[in-house]
Amino acid sequence: MNGETYQCNSCGRTFTDKGEIDFTPNLFHEFAAYTGYGSPLDDEKIEFMLCERCLMEIFRGFKHQPTVHGQNVVEWYDEVKEGYYEELDELEKS
Ligand SMILES: [Zn+2]
Repeated sequence: MNGETYQCNSCGRTFTDKGEIDFTPNLFHEFAAYTGYGSPLDDEKIEFMLCERCLMEIFRGFKHQPTVHGQNVVEWYDEVKEGYYEELDELEKS
């Protein structure tokens, strides 16, 4: 969406949509954690955004890494990542 800003909470990479055809926003992912009754953060919603680079590095640290269609997503990422992240890697970290 024109003018919308995407910022990774972890590394700070920031992309502002200028209304041009650009798939970079697809490399930012939104998350929300809900803390329910019994948590000291009672009934809160913690929202954050991660770029795909940071998301995969978090997955890399998991003891049990997620799978997609039966394939380990980190191994998949390592096989296909070349060429997909140049625009993301060039973004300023603010
Ligand atoms: Zn990031």
